[in-house]
Amino acid sequence: MAKNKIVIIGGGASGLVAAIVAARNGAKVTILERKDRIGKKILATGNGRCNLTNMHCSSKYFHGGDKDFITNILEQFDVNKTLEFFSELGIYPINVDSGKVYPNSLQASSVLDVLRLEVDRLKINIECNAEVTKIERSNNFVVYTKDKKYYGNKIIIAAGGKSSPDLGSNGSGFTLAKSLGHTIKKPIPSLVQLKSGADFLKQIKGVKINALAKIIDENNEIMRKEYGEILFTDYGISGPPILQISRIASDYLNDNKRVSVDIDFFHDLSEKELDQILLKRLTSMPNKTIQENFIGFINKRLINIIIKEAGIAMNKKSADIKKEERNKLVSILKKFSLIITGTNQWNQSQVTAGGIITSEIDEVTLESKKVKDVYLAGEVIDVDGDCGGYNLQWAWSSGVVAGMNASN
Ligand SMILES: Cc1cc2nc3c(=O)[nH]c(=O)nc-3n(C[C@H](O)[C@H](O)[C@H](O)COP(=O)(O)OP(=O)(O)OC[C@H]3O[C@@H](n4cnc5c(N)ncnc54)[C@H](O)[C@@H]3O)c2cc1C
Repeated sequence: MAKNKIVIIGGGASGLVAAIVAARNGAKVTILERKDRIGKKILATGNGRCNLTNMHCSSKYFHGGDKDFITNILEQFDVNKTLEFFSELGIYPINVDSGKVYPNSLQASSVLDVLRLEVDRLKINIECNAEVTKIERSNNFVVYTKDKKYYGNKIIIAAGGKSSPDLGSNGSGFTLAKSLGHTIKKPIPSLVQLKSGADFLKQIKGVKINALAKIIDENNEIMRKEYGEILFTDYGISGPPILQISRIASDYLNDNKRVSVDIDFFHDLSEKELDQILLKRLTSMPNKTIQENFIGFINKRLINIIIKEAGIAMNKKSADIKKEERNKLVSILKKFSLIITGTNQWNQSQVTAGGIITSEIDEVTLESKKVKDVYLAGEVIDVDGDCGGYNLQWAWSSGVVAGMNASN
């Protein structure tokens, strides 16, 4: 039987593993990569440490496409198979926290290096500075870059989403898929910082606190809550819990719906318990101003903002704080609300929500239902995961499934 000749568009996480399994399965593989080198985004993952998967991976941590579709792909190349794959390439995986897996080197470059070495060993042809602009089908596929044509009998589109275009993915995968007849669900930034117009932000820029962030819809329903380190910036809020809830905000803003974030500075105390603690502080330090009283209770730079928000004079003595004022303070400390006006842009977002809709892709093989012999992998598909190794797991799983089926 003649060898399959596969052209892979995109040398990122999904494209590289697709190329490896396809070449191991006997195919002749070419990767076309628009940047000057492959795998640039991998180097930036996990703050340069590469959180390559998560031991708790399941479809519940993913959004966008159909859940059964996602499960089907994840189960074909699950976390154990992923760890085996990378271990065989030389990565010694360690489970750092909450199921997050990293290479023991804590260097994302080692993940890219082992993939690159395997790509070289398998004699996979890599063409960099080769941005694909058009795909045509005659007998075989003709894949066009600015100055060259490439031929193959199978294509894998693994061009990523629109997030962090400096690292390569500029949304051109969506344009290519659309030109083949695919429907693209509007891409929106996910795992991204949130903007707010609150005027006090400039004053507390740089403040980091451990707190519970709740994302609230226009009916005051809590849509998701996440605990962790929140960073106030001059434009809004950032930090792991904010990135985690950002997808919902992005979605709501895209639909022109109101969305806000409530921060609970004392998530492990009920309002009643917090009130008791506050009462004790006020009575045990009666001569201190409320401003002085709050020193050591909350971050110093937040004190004035919270007292002002409660409508209390800074120099009011603790002994003179009335019950209603105490209630107001408790309520602000438990529910510090920020109206969200936007998200940061593509260059700041880690992941793209939206993309090629899953109903147009075979849920077992990842072959396009629009054009035979075209396969899709990675973030170009309308599947995005939470923060924590899920997005790379999707890239590995979908890359392997696409690579295997394209080469069969
Ligand atoms: C800063 C940052 C940190 C992250 N950290 C983590 C983490 O720790 N854990 C985790 O699970 N996920 C993380 N992610 C998300 C994860 O990196 C992505 O979900 C994953 O890389 C997607 O893989 P992909 O192959 O679909 O796309 P990409 O990795 O984006 O690769 C797509 C490739 O296609 C190329 N390309 C695009 N268009 C064309 C074209 N027309 N022609 C030729 N080539 C093209 C691009 O240059 C790129 O190299 C992070 C993302 C960012 C930005």
